[in-house]
Amino acid sequence: MRFQSFHKDFFQAEDGAYSIVTEREFFDSQITLTDAEAEMVIDHFGLDNIQVGNVASNREKASQTFILFPNEEYLHLNLVFPKPNKTELRLYISSKAGFKPAAGSIWFIYKKREQLFLGNMQEKEWNSLNQNDDFDDEYQYSIESSILTGINPDVNPSGQIITQNVGGRVIIARDPRLARMRFNHTNYLCEIDANHETFIAQRTLLPYVEAHHFIPIKFQHLFNKPLDNLENIVSLCPNCHRGIHYAVVDHKYDLIRNIYSKRPQLRKELSLDEVAQFYNAIRITD
Ligand SMILES: [Zn+2]
Ligand SMILES: [Zn+2]
Repeated sequence: MRFQSFHKDFFQAEDGAYSIVTEREFFDSQITLTDAEAEMVIDHFGLDNIQVGNVASNREKASQTFILFPNEEYLHLNLVFPKPNKTELRLYISSKAGFKPAAGSIWFIYKKREQLFLGNMQEKEWNSLNQNDDFDDEYQYSIESSILTGINPDVNPSGQIITQNVGGRVIIARDPRLARMRFNHTNYLCEIDANHETFIAQRTLLPYVEAHHFIPIKFQHLFNKPLDNLENIVSLCPNCHRGIHYAVVDHKYDLIRNIYSKRPQLRKELSLDEVAQFYNAIRITD
C-alpha cells in the first residue's frame, strides 16, 4: 500500500509503500513487490538496470544498494525480474545481508534525498504511526466539552496506557479532562509565552488554546508510562501549535527548547536533542 501523508511525515519521505511480510515470503526469503513498491523501485534503479533471470546469472547486476532504516547503513540485496516479461519483481531478503523482516511484520520502502530506504516494524508499532495528532478537531472539541461540564478527572490512577477502538482501529486514548487541567494550570495562556495573543472561544468564552502532547502520542510504543499525562500536555496558542508541527527546523527547535526548559521531570529522562528528534528537528551544530 502507498504511504499516506502521516507516513511521509514520519519518515520525512517523498514517497513510500509498505506490505505485511507473509509466512511464505519469510520462509522463501523472497518478497514479491506489489505495484506501488515495484513502481518506486523501477523508477529509482531504472528498468534496464534490473537483472532479468535468476541471481546467479549476473550476481553483480542482481545486487542493488538500499539504505536501512533507522541506522542508515548501506544494504546490498538481490533484486531481479525472474521472468523475461518483467511482470514480477522479486527482492531477496537475508539476515546475512542485514534485512530479514519477520513474518507478520510490516516492511516498507521509501524515497528520501534521492535514495531508497528499506525497513521493517512490528505491526503494532506501525499502526501507532497512524495515531491521530492533537490537531484533530474532535480532540480539541472534547476538551471544550470537558471545560463546559467541569468534571474533574480521577487522573488515570492505574497509570496504564489506555487504548480505544475507533471504527476497528485501536488508538491510544487521550483524556480531555487532563488537557483541561493543564489549561487551568496555565490560565488558558500559551506556555511558550504568556503574552501571546489568542482569541476568546465561542463555546467556552475563555481564551482559545490548544493541547499539544510534547512527546507525540505516536511514539507511545517507545514508553512504558502513558504519554497522555499532565506534564506531557502543553497549552499552546494556535500559532505556536502549528509552529511546533510545521515550522522550519530552527523555529521548531526554539519552541521545543522553550517547552523543554519548563519540564524538569522530562529533563531528567531525555536530552533536548532526543526530544527534538521526535519532531525531525535536529539542528546541525558547529
Ligand atoms: Zn500538537
Ligand atoms: Zn504561543
